[in-house]
Amino acid sequence: MVGCGALGALHAEMLARAGVGKLRIVDRDFVELTNLQRQTLYSESDAEQRLPKAIAAKKRLAEINSEIRVEAIVADVNHSNIENLVDGCALVLDGTDNFQVRYLINDACVKQHIPWIYGAAVSGYGTTMTVRPGETPCLRCIFEEMPSAGSAPTCDTAGVIMPIIASVAAVQVTEALKILTGNFAALHGSLMQIDIWQNDWRKIKLKEPREDCLTCRQKRFEFLDAEGGDFVTTLCGRDAVQVSPPGAVQIDLKNLAERLGKLGEVKQNEYLVRFKNGEYELTVFRDARAIIRGTDDTATARSLYAKYVGT
Ligand SMILES: [Zn+2]
Repeated sequence: MVGCGALGALHAEMLARAGVGKLRIVDRDFVELTNLQRQTLYSESDAEQRLPKAIAAKKRLAEINSEIRVEAIVADVNHSNIENLVDGCALVLDGTDNFQVRYLINDACVKQHIPWIYGAAVSGYGTTMTVRPGETPCLRCIFEEMPSAGSAPTCDTAGVIMPIIASVAAVQVTEALKILTGNFAALHGSLMQIDIWQNDWRKIKLKEPREDCLTCRQKRFEFLDAEGGDFVTTLCGRDAVQVSPPGAVQIDLKNLAERLGKLGEVKQNEYLVRFKNGEYELTVFRDARAIIRGTDDTATARSLYAKYVGT
């Protein structure tokens, strides 16, 4: 499961209750009070403790079904780790909020021949599609180019209501159960679009994979091969920016907390350090990633990172 926000929380809960034996949950974020309107796995106490979502999800799922195994990974999914993350999975569920990661999932899943289920929701509108590499069109067969920034409404500009999330997640998880039980004939075989506010449900039937698809026909994995990738990302729906240093880095959180404690208010748990100084709040994870709140300007975020965490 890539992403354990609104869609992901529902995927996790339904699959755990269904008794799917092993779940690997990857998420880069921590729980906040504003998530609770739609992210059903989490509680006020998770937000209070600033638990990473993957960790809070694992804790809650163990209360729901103690007989399954849940692997929680606190990480940002990018071109350097996605292949390892999906390795050995029977199925990948998309619970992300951005196309960049979806193209990465598509590349990795086509390359490793793993089925995956795309899902997205914004406002009262949602869409989903099931990709079985070699059998159905892949994401790139349908959306050849990544939608350009600003071309579509995001949860930033439009918000989202819980019922559309529940609808998309319900279709995704039903498809997951069909795949995991080998009931391929029952799959919906379409790009499904739901406008729950306008009461409009439609299915665009999928045909064969596109003859000239770069990904699933020509096997050119451009997103996996990307050099470097984004160091800094603005986060959807929040006045926040994520800064992630390139390469695998581990940070000494205790040391960082001591250092920052001299400069402002610091809170710490096993997984992260939160530092507040004036209007900005920095949350630094063990992998040296930081989510910086109080700005959506990437240059400001970069300089705050350099100032307080170091480069
Ligand atoms: Zn394709």
